[in-house]
Amino acid sequence: MTKFTAEDFKSHFEGHIITPADERYDAARSIWNAMFDKKPALITQCKTTQDVVEAVNFARENDLLLAVKGGGHNSAGTGSCDNGLVIDLSLMQGIKVDPENQKITVQGGCLLSAIDAEAQKFGQAVSSGIISHTGVGGLTLGGGFGWISRKYGFSIDNLLEAEIVTAEGKIVKANATENPDLFWAIRGGGGNFGVVTSFTFKTASIGQQVYSGPIIKSFDNAKAYLQFHRDYVRNMSDDMTIWLVVRHAPPLPFLDAQHHGKLVVIVPFVWLGDEEEGKKLMQPIRDFGETLGDGSAMHPWTAWQSAFDGLVTHGARNYWKSHHLKSLSDACIDSIIEYGNSLPTAECEIFIPHMEGAPSRIASDATAFSFRQTPFLLNIHTRWREESDDERAIEWAKNFHKATEPFAQGVYVNFLSAEGDNRVKQAYTPEVWEKLVNCKKKWDPQNLFRVNQNISPFS
Ligand SMILES: Cc1cc2nc3c(=O)[nH]c(=O)nc-3n(C[C@H](O)[C@H](O)[C@H](O)COP(=O)(O)OP(=O)(O)OC[C@H]3O[C@@H](n4cnc5c(N)ncnc54)[C@H](O)[C@@H]3O)c2cc1C
Repeated sequence: MTKFTAEDFKSHFEGHIITPADERYDAARSIWNAMFDKKPALITQCKTTQDVVEAVNFARENDLLLAVKGGGHNSAGTGSCDNGLVIDLSLMQGIKVDPENQKITVQGGCLLSAIDAEAQKFGQAVSSGIISHTGVGGLTLGGGFGWISRKYGFSIDNLLEAEIVTAEGKIVKANATENPDLFWAIRGGGGNFGVVTSFTFKTASIGQQVYSGPIIKSFDNAKAYLQFHRDYVRNMSDDMTIWLVVRHAPPLPFLDAQHHGKLVVIVPFVWLGDEEEGKKLMQPIRDFGETLGDGSAMHPWTAWQSAFDGLVTHGARNYWKSHHLKSLSDACIDSIIEYGNSLPTAECEIFIPHMEGAPSRIASDATAFSFRQTPFLLNIHTRWREESDDERAIEWAKNFHKATEPFAQGVYVNFLSAEGDNRVKQAYTPEVWEKLVNCKKKWDPQNLFRVNQNISPFS
C-alpha cells in the first residue's frame, strides 16, 4: 500500500476524475490529431495547483503512465496516453493582466484565444502561435513563435516566471533567480520537467488593429516568386513578418471563385506599423507576377489571430514533418514546387515561416531552444479525413522531408511527430542536449514525465 490510495486521491481532489465508464470520457479523451485514439484509464481534470500535485503523486506512487494535456494540440498526440493517467488542465483557464507593468499571468490550461482576448482589452499581446485553439502550455514549453516573434522574441523569450509541479509533487517557482536551471530547461525542453500550472509573460503593446492579410499568388510562376520572396523578406525590418504557404486555395471571400480549390501560393503577413507604410512594403509582393486575390486590411488582432483556425480544426487525420532550413536555396525551391504539385489531399499545405529577428539576437545557450539563427522553417502539414489515405499521405510527407534534408539543420521540437528518440535529439545542439539531460536527472530522475518528446534521464 502506498500513502496515496485511490480514496485518498479522490477525497483531496477538487476537479473531475473521469473513468471509461463516465459519459464525459470520450469528449475528455479527444485530442486535436484524429490519428490518435488513446484510451487512458483515468482523466483527472484539475481545478487547482493542489489537484495537479495530487494527480502527480497518485500517478507516481502507483506506477501509472502519465500524460499532461494542455490544449491537446500536439500533432504527435502526446497530450494523452493509453491505460495511464492524463492530467488535463482544461479547467485551469485563469488569466490576470497587469497592464501597467506589461505582464500577464495565465494558468497552464489556457488556449491562445483566451489570452489574446484578455490582453487585447489593454491593447496588449503575448508573442505566441498563429492558431488560436492551440494550448499555451505545450506551445510555450517548446519555444512558441508567431506573427510578432520577429519583433518581440519567442514566447519563451517573454516568459518571466512559471509555477511548476515537479515529479516529486512539489510546487516550485522558476524564474531568473529561483531555480534558474529549471527556468532554462522549460524554455525549449518541452513538458519534460514538470507540470506548469501558470506562466507569467511580458506583454507587447501592439494596439488592437494590425495591417495584415494574405495575398494570393498564382502557382504558375511559383519558382520565380519563391526566389524573389526569399530575398525580399530577409531584408524586412522586424516590424514586418511575411510567410509563405503552398496549398489549394480555400474559398476566401476576396478570391474569385474560379481560383477556389486551385493550387496557389498564399503570402500572409503582419505589419506592426503605420498602414500606409505597410502597403508600400507589400506592393512589390503584389506586383511580382500574378496576384489572384488580396485580403490586406487593418484587422483586429484577435480576428487575425484566429483567421486560420478554420483550416486546421480538430478531428482530421494529420502527419506533420518539419525542419529548419539553412537557406531557401534554388534546389530547395525546386523540391517545394515538385511536392507542391503532388499535394496528396486538398487540406495539405507546405508552410514556410520566416524566423529571423529578435530571437536570433538572443544567445544560443540562453534558453533550451537551439537553432535561433535559422532563416526559414519548412513545415509539411499533411492532413486528410479517410483512414484509407493514411499510407499515401504519410509516404508523401516522408519523401518530401527526405528530399529537403540536404537543405536542413535541426527541427523545432513542437513540430515533431512520433519520430523516435534520435529525432528528438536533432531539436537541440549537443551542448544543449547534454545540459537538458543533466537537468532531467535532477528534476525527474525516474522519467515520470515521458509522454512527450522525451529527454530521458537514462540517455
Ligand atoms: C494547427 C497547429 C498550429 C500550430 N501553430 C503553431 C505556431 O504558430 N507556433 C508554434 O510555436 N507552434 C505551433 N504549433 C505547435 C504547438 O506549439 C504544439 O503542438 C504544442 O505542443 C501544442 O501545445 P498544447 O498544449 O495545445 O498541446 P498538448 O497536446 O496538450 O501538449 C503537448 C505536450 O506539451 C506538454 N504540456 C502541455 N501543457 C503543459 C503544461 N502546462 N505543463 C507541462 N507540460 C505541458 C505535454 O508534455 C504534452 O506532451 C501548432 C500546432 C498545430 C497542431
